[in-house]
Amino acid sequence: ILYFGTDAQKQKYIPGLTDGTLMGAYCLTEPGSGSDALGAKTKAVLNAEGTHYVLNGQKMWITNAGFADVFIVFAKIDGEQFTGFILDKDTPGLSLGNEEHKMGIKGSSTRQVFLTDALVPKENVLGEIGKGHLIAFNVLNIGRIKLAAACLGGAKATATQSVKYANERVQFKLPISKFGAIRYKLAQQAIRMYAVESAIYRAGEDIYRKEQELLASGLGTNEALLGAAREFAVECAMLKVEGSEVLDYVTDEGVQIYGGYGFSADYPMDRNYRDSRINRIFEGTNEINRMLAVDMILKKGLKGEIDLMGPAQAVQQELMSIPSMGESDDSAFAAEKKAIANLKKAVLMVAGTAVQKYMNSLAKEQEVLMNIADMAIKTYTAESTLLRVEKEIAAKGEEALSRQLDMARVYLSDAIDLVEKSGREAIASMTEGDEQRLMSMGLKRFTKPDLFNVKDARRRVAAGLIEANEYCY
Ligand SMILES: Cc1cc2nc3c(=O)[nH]c(=O)nc-3n(C[C@H](O)[C@H](O)[C@H](O)COP(=O)(O)OP(=O)(O)OC[C@H]3O[C@@H](n4cnc5c(N)ncnc54)[C@H](O)[C@@H]3O)c2cc1C
Repeated sequence: ILYFGTDAQKQKYIPGLTDGTLMGAYCLTEPGSGSDALGAKTKAVLNAEGTHYVLNGQKMWITNAGFADVFIVFAKIDGEQFTGFILDKDTPGLSLGNEEHKMGIKGSSTRQVFLTDALVPKENVLGEIGKGHLIAFNVLNIGRIKLAAACLGGAKATATQSVKYANERVQFKLPISKFGAIRYKLAQQAIRMYAVESAIYRAGEDIYRKEQELLASGLGTNEALLGAAREFAVECAMLKVEGSEVLDYVTDEGVQIYGGYGFSADYPMDRNYRDSRINRIFEGTNEINRMLAVDMILKKGLKGEIDLMGPAQAVQQELMSIPSMGESDDSAFAAEKKAIANLKKAVLMVAGTAVQKYMNSLAKEQEVLMNIADMAIKTYTAESTLLRVEKEIAAKGEEALSRQLDMARVYLSDAIDLVEKSGREAIASMTEGDEQRLMSMGLKRFTKPDLFNVKDARRRVAAGLIEANEYCY
């Protein structure tokens, strides 16, 4: 309503929705159309008097349904034009199914919404007729970065519970936090969280700056925010994936740190574990978001908004030449920056080859798209982490940030391995013979890690957590 509503709609609903006297629900999914949201069957037909739309259909998995006052419902006018509508809870013909029996997030209400000749005043059409997809998908862009931040919040709580428990639980006469295997887990939880947090801050700042730029160019507040989020839709999709997967990782290791008590419904990890899992499913499943991210990158390339093929070809050229030893660079973080630049080359090499090989049938090569998405996500997150640490070191000095620098380096080391694995899989499936040999050689060159003592770095990161007895980065 805020982004697409008329002034009258905003005046009617926004004050109540913002002060909490009104609750909202968002009704896109149907029993037969989840990921394929535009395959919705709910239909709207204008009545003979031309005053109301008559809606018929069924919406599934609607969060807040049980306590919502206002429902945004997507339906196809005459079965064709996908359009948004605002329905009040007492709309004649709107009724609710029973509460779903869910694995987790049991504090939320999730019910079906039935529309049986639901009578909706014409003025309750939201946005333009036939442009419902703009509402549905633009709102999801913003929802995705917020979901990543929410996941991080959950992960922080879980990490704090994990370290507290590890400090309290004694086995073999020692707190389990003294054991290297447990320290590894505590450190790795923190490293992945710090990394995704860095990427969230980076994308958040990028969106904010773009919004300011669009405002200065004369756009209204809502158009500016939507436009800015659209500009960084790739990042929002990548963050949704990484944020929800970091939360699941942190929670899974939380269960492990708690041992048998992690499996007990009387201890907190049980609920954390069940609550975290949904985040990989809603706001677009992680499979859909991975494909979306790559699809958007490739489309930007085809539209000329980013130069994809140029760098991809330059990388191919570079592969044909003998690697230069280069001049030694002793500027700050030169090795890490070079490693990240190389990861980008690996992504471009694989993405460029995929476009050349498959052209329009690339959408059918989902495994390759997943490989590219994983490579891009790890590269973006690793770079964001290093940029953040570099910026903070400039302000506070290296000593104050030594553990954060450890985290950036361990994350980079892990990212290199993952980029190498995904790249190898993609290259093996797309190429053969000399081309394959050349590309494998390139991948090895671009994912050659500097040997770094990750064990000691993780121990230092864990020591900070153990000392603070909470998540402290
Ligand atoms: C607790 C909860 C709350 C929710 N809240 C809301 C809400 O408030 N409003 C709302 O509108 N919806 C809501 N949803 C729905 C949610 O967004 C959908 O469940 C989600 O989009 C997936 O749709 P689906 O369940 O139909 O799965 P499907 O689309 O059937 O997907 C099943 C599997 O197939 C994969 N898949 C599907 N299509 C493809 C493809 N083209 N290529 C590769 N893999 C594919 C998916 O990634 C998934 O792994 C909620 C769901 C839950 C469980």
